Amino acid sequence: MAGVSKTGFATQAIHAGYDPKAHDGALCPPLHLSSTFVFDTAEAGAEIFAGERPGYFYSRISNPTLDLLEKRMALLEGGEAAVATASGMGAIAGVLWSFLKPGDEVIVDKTLYGCTFAFMRHGLARFGVKITHVDLTNADNLSGHISPATKIVYFETPANPNMRLIDIAAVSAIARDQGARTVVDNTYATPVLTQPIILGADIVVHSATKYLGGHGDLVGGIAVGSARDMAEVRLVGIKDMTGAIMAPFNAMLVMRGLKTLKLRMAEHCRSAMVIAAMLEAHPAVAAVYYPGLASFGQRDLALRQMGGFGGMIAFELHGGHAAGVALMNRLNLIHRAVSLGDAESLIQHPASMTHSTYSREERAEYGISDGLVRLSVGLEEVEDIIADLTQALEGAGTEAPGASSVAERVADQDRVFALGAG
Ligand code: PLP
Repeated sequence: MAGVSKTGFATQAIHAGYDPKAHDGALCPPLHLSSTFVFDTAEAGAEIFAGERPGYFYSRISNPTLDLLEKRMALLEGGEAAVATASGMGAIAGVLWSFLKPGDEVIVDKTLYGCTFAFMRHGLARFGVKITHVDLTNADNLSGHISPATKIVYFETPANPNMRLIDIAAVSAIARDQGARTVVDNTYATPVLTQPIILGADIVVHSATKYLGGHGDLVGGIAVGSARDMAEVRLVGIKDMTGAIMAPFNAMLVMRGLKTLKLRMAEHCRSAMVIAAMLEAHPAVAAVYYPGLASFGQRDLALRQMGGFGGMIAFELHGGHAAGVALMNRLNLIHRAVSLGDAESLIQHPASMTHSTYSREERAEYGISDGLVRLSVGLEEVEDIIADLTQALEGAGTEAPGASSVAERVADQDRVFALGAG
């Protein structure tokens, strides 16, 4: 659509790259389920394969429905190109496999989503890639560790689950000076709140399963970056090494989600701010980690880097882990479930669920306490979410049915590649 790239975020999310006139007036872009594409001639096919002529040939490499989603996400993130993948883990693996070889180093922040941690620590490390955990909340720490062997600096901001923030501009500048790529997992913030590439990062990865899709009905991922890097990710990391391409139907669902992303994020942010303040004032609550609170240690960075504080809250109760379990078991509206960014409010316990891929010692070392509870604030009326939390907090003692069995499981965290979903 001519000129659409000059328009605002929501307009791009709804219109970019699609002209109904070219598709029989269809308001919604067609869904191309085709796995393969027919060549006019053998010569034309060979030219498409060689990259000498535009065209599609096989949907593990590219597909018109994915193409449109990729164009929109590249625009929304301020990148040149994107690759849509089967899952967030597919995007992360596809990006990292594309740029690493044995002997290289990846510097990662201390807090990572559980399966990303497992992929780095137990997966990449098996193939001779060195993984170094550095506290990137202070960008100067990177200068002390980065070396010519460092090829990628990788982090999440806000980090899952403890909400640590990382100064994207400061870290990216140090990495760039040393010739390393900065890869940012932007799942929590989404491009509505933060655009890491515009702040200096090279590549953004997402679990599109979360806010981008927004309705809990798909698993998907996406990587965004320069045209050159994304060609590498598409042709090496995805086509040959992981095969983790997104299904066209899921691309259609993500595009449907994108149409309301800005609206939904505004509501997630508004409700989360109210709920974080309510939790902080509650006598049963020991600590709340939410970037919008005056008590949040990195609030200045949040104000500088984020266009809103997001829909995720982490908190701890005075009664620790047992009280957290009791709280979760007493909720009626808020669902006990992993994943995040959906219309439904979801609550989970990182130590026994999403971050069970860490050993107990690793969680202690990397700042994921056993008592931490993670809440994804949904789109229900905020009064209803608060009412549910309030009644559950009132009933949440230090002992509750189920608490001991979860505690046992938390103690048994030596499993490599444990579940850690969502
Ligand atoms: N990154 C973050 C921050 C996540 O929370 C998740 C999943 O919870 C992932 C990546 C992985 O995404 P997926 O579950 O779509 O593979």
